[in-house]
Amino acid sequence: MRLLGTPIRRALFSSVCLLPLLFPSFSTAQEETPAAPLPVFEFHSGFWLNLHHTLYRIARSQRATNSSATSAPANLGISGLSPVEQRVWSAAISYYSKTYGAQDLTVSLEMILIKNQLGDFETCEDLAGLKKKSCDAGLPAKLTEALDSAATVYRAHLWQDHDRANRRWIAAVAPLVRRNGLNLSHRLAEIYQTNWPKDRIRVDVASFASSTGAYTTLEPLRVTVSSSDSRNQGPEALEVLFHEASHGIADSVEEAIFRECRQREKPIPRDLWHALLFYTTGEVIRPLALNASNSGSSSPSGYVPYAVREGLYKRGWENYLRILTQYWQPYLDGSVPFDDAIAHMVSAL
Ligand SMILES: [Zn+2]
Repeated sequence: MRLLGTPIRRALFSSVCLLPLLFPSFSTAQEETPAAPLPVFEFHSGFWLNLHHTLYRIARSQRATNSSATSAPANLGISGLSPVEQRVWSAAISYYSKTYGAQDLTVSLEMILIKNQLGDFETCEDLAGLKKKSCDAGLPAKLTEALDSAATVYRAHLWQDHDRANRRWIAAVAPLVRRNGLNLSHRLAEIYQTNWPKDRIRVDVASFASSTGAYTTLEPLRVTVSSSDSRNQGPEALEVLFHEASHGIADSVEEAIFRECRQREKPIPRDLWHALLFYTTGEVIRPLALNASNSGSSSPSGYVPYAVREGLYKRGWENYLRILTQYWQPYLDGSVPFDDAIAHMVSAL
């Protein structure tokens, strides 16, 4: 749910070639029912991106175990490995721990570029281009070696389960996107006074996707979402997707808050723009999710937006919830212009 600061990402990100394939060739052999493409989002369950996130997650958890000085054995994240497999897998995790263990998946430019590249090369059998020249992903040699060698172990022991869970998640969320995606995208673009991206937004579905369960990177705008995270299930998945996508279209909010603060010589309130994104997506999704609950697929007591459910407003955002309800909600209801709503919020801080 975090992203790079706008100027940095604008300057640094370059576009890489997008493979318009919905699913990779490494998927389990299941026939997909042909259906019209989904609006708004394009879902991928990619082998390399999943492997990368898996190695990163295990490396991070090993580092946490080591730093807490427990004598627990190293967690390899897989059981039943042969001695050779264990050696290969451990070496890949050590490499990840040493090289990327201290980096944040969601803000490190290096991690973001690697993630995007692995997404683009999802149909390749190896990343060194051994079988196919065009599959040389151009990644650092040691990373290529770590991934290519760990791939055999991952494919044999984890990938089928991860891919199956990713596909199950996609199958569950696809009808919601098909039914509500276009309306939601139009409504959010209208709220943020911008245009929704013309191309469908790529969503990489992974077993693990950062400690927050989902994150967004910009230029190109891409969402990574965890299929196994309990926060991303059911109708709530739709809110997560549109919250993440909003990261790519809500610059107007950040800019307006900065402008109002400068005019009033006030410090810029940390994360107010992010609280506003959470609040807005929650409010826009709420009526749709309530309809879903009437058909029995959600809590009968009503839809609880992500930020409320996860207690975000209780962790330093109490004041934000108050001003969003008082000054931003009237804008959502159509009774106050955008600039006035932001100005009122900033003066009330
Ligand atoms: Zn976020």
